[in-house]
Amino acid sequence: MKVSNSSLALCLLATASCSASINPEYDYVVIGSGAGGGPLAANLARHGYSVLLLEAGGDHVNSSLTTIPVMANIAAEDPEISWQFFVNHYSDPDEAQKDSKFTWQLTNGSYFAGSNPPPDAKARGILYPRGATVGGSAMVNAAGLALPPDNDWNHIANLTGDNSWKSENMRQYFERLESNHFLSKDTPGHGFSGWLGSNRNNLSIVRPDDGFFQVVSTAMTALGDSYNPSKDEVLKLLHRDSNSPDGNRFEKNRITEHTLHHDQKHRRSSPGAYLKSTIDETYSNGTQKYPLTVSTNSLATKVLFNNSTGPKSVVGVEYLKGAALYKADSRSNEADSGSAMVAVAKREVIVAGGAFNTPQILKLSGIGPQAELEEFGIPVQVPLPAVGTNLQDNYEIGVEGLASKDFFNTFENCTTAFAPGDPCFDEFMETGTGPYTQGPMLSLLMRSSQSENADADLWFFGGANGVFRGFWPGWSNATAPVSNFWWSIVKMQMQNQAGTVTLRSADPRDVPEINFNYFPEGRDSDLAALVEGMELALDIFGKVEAPWAPFNVTRPIQSLEEEAKYESWGHHASCSCPMGVDQDTSCVDSHFRVHGVKNLRIVDGSVFPRVPGGFPVAATFMISEKATDIILEDARKLVK
Ligand SMILES: Cc1cc2nc3c(=O)[nH]c(=O)nc-3n(C[C@H](O)[C@H](O)[C@H](O)COP(=O)(O)OP(=O)(O)OC[C@H]3O[C@@H](n4cnc5c(N)ncnc54)[C@H](O)[C@@H]3O)c2cc1C
Repeated sequence: MKVSNSSLALCLLATASCSASINPEYDYVVIGSGAGGGPLAANLARHGYSVLLLEAGGDHVNSSLTTIPVMANIAAEDPEISWQFFVNHYSDPDEAQKDSKFTWQLTNGSYFAGSNPPPDAKARGILYPRGATVGGSAMVNAAGLALPPDNDWNHIANLTGDNSWKSENMRQYFERLESNHFLSKDTPGHGFSGWLGSNRNNLSIVRPDDGFFQVVSTAMTALGDSYNPSKDEVLKLLHRDSNSPDGNRFEKNRITEHTLHHDQKHRRSSPGAYLKSTIDETYSNGTQKYPLTVSTNSLATKVLFNNSTGPKSVVGVEYLKGAALYKADSRSNEADSGSAMVAVAKREVIVAGGAFNTPQILKLSGIGPQAELEEFGIPVQVPLPAVGTNLQDNYEIGVEGLASKDFFNTFENCTTAFAPGDPCFDEFMETGTGPYTQGPMLSLLMRSSQSENADADLWFFGGANGVFRGFWPGWSNATAPVSNFWWSIVKMQMQNQAGTVTLRSADPRDVPEINFNYFPEGRDSDLAALVEGMELALDIFGKVEAPWAPFNVTRPIQSLEEEAKYESWGHHASCSCPMGVDQDTSCVDSHFRVHGVKNLRIVDGSVFPRVPGGFPVAATFMISEKATDIILEDARKLVK
């Protein structure tokens, strides 16, 4: 490979091994193609800057698993598409093992979830999936596209003193990225030509289900949203816009449909598809229009500094090329360590590896708590104690009940082979209709007595014909009878900021130690709110009328408080490199710049000081747009 002068200089000056292959230079190198990094890389390339996007996973943008909405859970457990971390909810093993999902690994490598594991089984913890593919976790998530309460944006503005984070300014980023497919085009606060499709389930699929409407009508009454609405009234109420620009939209308990990041034909709309369309666009002579290079199977191991005196400045990234190198990849093989590569960034490096990997990459690069880096023999470049602290998640807990009469079986005519010949697959592929288009349906907002302001602090989703109980090996195959109705109750405004991501070793292929430190002492309000949420769900079951009543409640399986404490789960990990002003308690400033380092930013879910609302992906897409503007503005200033 031809090595340019500045690449050679990098090899000589920086901490990179000179045996590594050096790529051509790029204006920007982005690490991670998820909700934060993917759109940012595409946007920068569309503005004419050369971008190298390093993605540790492969490319599954056109796979059925990432495009068919009902296959999302299978994608999140697919070894080629997702990483499987094991995390700790509690550092005390006795507390941790009270969770029925607690997982052990047997000597033959297989897993066992629950109490009384076989002898010699090794405790692993709680399974935690993350998308590891072009498009990141946004390729395997449930696609709930839910804007956070305005108060969450205003909190960042207050914390940083940067008013551009105020909710009234942030809305423009949603309008820019959204391509709404269900509202009239003059609806304020929405976008209709952005890169991300937004759509809702087709309620006509559940229209025949009188039982479903009976439960929703009862829930609306119990919530004070409406009083015994008829089926037609329920349909009308469900159609209210869950992402309306009304600043008080979290102040009223209510049930609507979920908005989903689905396109017009109800396929997943995603950063992966946006990246692909950016690469595929050509001029009439066939040459690539935008200078974007996506390097898959490329595990970034550290950012590289120039060694000149003065402020620390990042000049590139070292990475390993090879498939399944990371140990959270269930296909990984100790013997295969990939080939070392170096990418040179002429302008900046942007880290967007997500809440577990971004702090790991920073620490491996020598940016983090000094004592921890020294413990693993990592030369300290910039001491930054907040890296890997403040890890947060929305707690989530389920309530389920079996009705006395079956609900309408939406999937009755599907073989679930997800291949030609499966009538539901054929319908999905041909017309973009049918049961395979469905994502989470109901979206219920409830303000518990623990809310810190006028906003709802609980966000339920759920419905008939399905089940969601959190994560353990095999979770994506969980089934329930057609009479099952389930609610998943998501806590917002979490008081727990005690989570940590710490290194296990200096090996970049190793997974970090992830501790959420659930329900720390003195933070009882999260627990109390979850209990109130479960009480509401049980109250709804209790008030539904025959023939669906009485309900046989199958979850919770213990007292409400114990259930919330030991059976809660999460999959919205965020905040592990938070934004702020104080260098002791935050990692980046309000322009995403890592404190004390030049040419290095973080743009992903780890920068939120607290988890935005109940579903972080919409807010992560929005900060990716905001970061685009800031980076472009800084680039323009450099030219002047
Ligand atoms: C099963 C599941 C369901 C979810 N459902 C919802 C939902 O319905 N609504 C919602 O709002 N949120 C949901 N989420 C959460 C949401 O998807 C994430 O919060 C969001 O995608 C985070 O974006 P991110 O950019 O921070 O990280 P990610 O989207 O996870 O992207 C990080 C990317 O970086 C790559 N990477 C990591 N380390 C390296 C490295 N060293 N080198 C190169 N590449 C690297 C990863 O492979 C990945 O592609 C769900 C998540 C999961 C797992």
